[in-house]
Amino acid sequence: MNMPKYTASIAILAAVATAVAGPVAVKGPDGRLEFAVDIGEGGVAVWRASYDGEPVVDWSPLGLETDDGDFTKGVSRGPCRRGTFRDEYSLATIKKSHVKVEMNTLQTVLSDAAGRRLGLEARVGANDIAFRYSFPKGEKPVRVLREATAFAFPGSAKMFATPQSKPMIGFAKTKPSYEETYVYDAPVGTRSGYGEGWTFPLLAHVNPDGGAHRELWALVSETGTDGNYCGCRLMDYEKGAFRIGFPMPGEARGNGAVEPVCAAGSATPWRTLTVGGLAAVVETTVAWDVVKPLVEPPAKPYRYGKGSWSWIVWDDASMNPADQRAFVDLAAAMKWDHILVDAFWDRFGEKELDDFLAYAKSKGVAVYLWYNSNGDWNDAPQTPKDRFNTPESTEREMAWLEAKGIRGIKVDFWGGDKQFVIKRYCELFEAANRHGIEVFVHGSTLPRGWERMYPNFVGAEALLASENLKFSQGAMDSHSQWASLHPFCRNSVASAEFGPVFLNKFLRRDNKSGSRRVTTEGFELATSVIYQNPVQNFGLCPNNLNEGFDKELKFLREVPTVWDETRFVAGYPGKYIVLARRSGKKWYVAGLAREDVNVDVKLDFCGGAALKKTLKRDDGFALVF
Ligand code: CA
Repeated sequence: MNMPKYTASIAILAAVATAVAGPVAVKGPDGRLEFAVDIGEGGVAVWRASYDGEPVVDWSPLGLETDDGDFTKGVSRGPCRRGTFRDEYSLATIKKSHVKVEMNTLQTVLSDAAGRRLGLEARVGANDIAFRYSFPKGEKPVRVLREATAFAFPGSAKMFATPQSKPMIGFAKTKPSYEETYVYDAPVGTRSGYGEGWTFPLLAHVNPDGGAHRELWALVSETGTDGNYCGCRLMDYEKGAFRIGFPMPGEARGNGAVEPVCAAGSATPWRTLTVGGLAAVVETTVAWDVVKPLVEPPAKPYRYGKGSWSWIVWDDASMNPADQRAFVDLAAAMKWDHILVDAFWDRFGEKELDDFLAYAKSKGVAVYLWYNSNGDWNDAPQTPKDRFNTPESTEREMAWLEAKGIRGIKVDFWGGDKQFVIKRYCELFEAANRHGIEVFVHGSTLPRGWERMYPNFVGAEALLASENLKFSQGAMDSHSQWASLHPFCRNSVASAEFGPVFLNKFLRRDNKSGSRRVTTEGFELATSVIYQNPVQNFGLCPNNLNEGFDKELKFLREVPTVWDETRFVAGYPGKYIVLARRSGKKWYVAGLAREDVNVDVKLDFCGGAALKKTLKRDDGFALVF
C-alpha cells in the first residue's frame, strides 16, 4: 500500500488559469447544503455556506498570505473543476465502525496579479463542508504568514465555545492545553476569557431567534493537521466573523515559529463546518472522512478496552508496586483488559517493575504507562520525562516498551499548537506504531483527524477531564453540564479520554474527604457510554467491589468501548443528552441530565422501543436493548 504523506489534489494548479467572474457553488448530494465561492470587493476571495437557501455562514474571506504571494486580496479566480469524492472506510476508534462518504467537490485556483497561484478545494456532503488550500509544486517550501479564512455567523447566533489560554500559565506553565471551561448559549460576540480567541471545535446555534430552520446548528473545526501545519484557533468574533488564528508566540517557551512552513505541492488542513440539526452535529464523521491513513498498522492488531487507574482517586501516593497490584486485581475482577499506571512508575526499582509486569501478565491484564512529553517546553516535573524529546531517545524507549510487552502509553503535558510541536506528536505516533505501541495524549491539543491518520492513536484529553472532579468540588458540581455538552462539541470531532465512572462517595482513597460525588450511579454508568474513547480508564476503586454495586459492576464488565454506530436520541447542549451506541446487535442507550427533564421518545432504530424517563439534575441511566 503506497500512502503519500500529503494528499493535495494539485492537478488543477497545473492548468492555465484564466480569470472567471461571478459566484460558483457546489451542493451536497441531497441538494440542501451549499458552499459558494466568489471574488468580492478589492479582489478578496470569499465563501458562503447555506442550508435550504438559509444563510449559515455569510460571505467570509478566504486566502493566505505567504512569502510567495498575498492571496488575501487582489486575486482572481480560475475555472472550476467539479467532481464527486467517494470513500468507504472502517475505523474502530471513533463513533462509528464503518463509514461511507459521498461529497460533491469543487476545485479552483486563486491567482494574484503576478500570476502566482493558490489552490482551493471544497467538499460538500449532506451535512458537512470541508475546504482547504493547496500549494503549487515548486522548488522551495512556502511560509504562511497569515490565514484570512473566516466564519461570518449571523450576529444573532449563539455559541458554545471554550477559550484559548494564554501560553506558559497554569500548573507548571503547561498551558495552553485545551483545559478550560465553556461558555453556553453565549452571543457569538462574547469576548473570550483570555482575549486569545477560542479553540476548536466551536458549536453555533445559527438562528436561535427563528428562521426557516429554527434548529439550525453549525460545528466548526479543522482536521488533517500533521507536521505540515500548525494547530489553529478561532479569534474573537470581530467585524461580523471569527477568523483563523495561528499559535501564540509564547507557546513552548517561545521556541519555534508561529507561521507554518508548508512543503511545495502540499495542502493545508481542512476547515470543516457541520450543518443541520443536533443529530447532524452529534453523528458527523467529517473529521475522519476527508483525511487518509498516513502510516500502515503493524501486523499485530491494536486492542481496545477498559482499564483500572489508581491515580485518579488514590493519587500519587498509590504509585507503588503494592497499590498497583491492587488495581491489577481490580481489573482482573472486573474482567477488564488493562491497567493504566500513571506518573512516577519510574521510581520502581528495575526488579520491582519486572515483577509487577509479570504479575499483571499472570492476571491477563495489559499495561499502559504514563510519560511526560517534555523536554523543556514547560516546567511539569512528573517523571519519567526526557524520554521522548529527541528521535534517538524516542526510538530507544519504544524498543524498550515493546520488549517489556507494554500495550500503550499516555503522554502528558504537551507544548501547544506550533508546527514543530504538532510534528513531535506525529513523530511520536509513527515511532510508537513501528513498535506496535498505542498512544493517547493528555495536556494536549485537540486531535485533528488523528484516529484515522495514525492507527495507534487512541484518544486525547483536550478537555477538563475527570481529574478536575477530584481537584475541586466546583468542577464536580459542573460534571453534568460538561457531560451533556461534549457529545455535541468536543467529543463529536475526536475521541475524548475523560476517565469517567466513579462509584466512591468521595473522590479520595479514604472515601470520606475530598470532592463529594453529586451524581447518581445511573449518571456514572451513562458516562461510560456518553464519553467515547476506544481505551477507557475508569475511576473505580477496589472497595467498590464489595459495596452492593452488583448491577453497576455487571454493566461495567460488559459495556463496550468501541462502537459500530452512534445515534443522537434527544438533548440540548449543556442541558441533557440521550445517545444510542450500537455494538453488534445490542444498542446501549444512555442519558444524563444537567436540568430536570422528561424524556419520552420512540427508538425507531431498535424496533420502535419506547423510552420514558424522568431525570433530575445529575441523574442518568444506561440501558441495553
Ligand atoms: Ca490534564
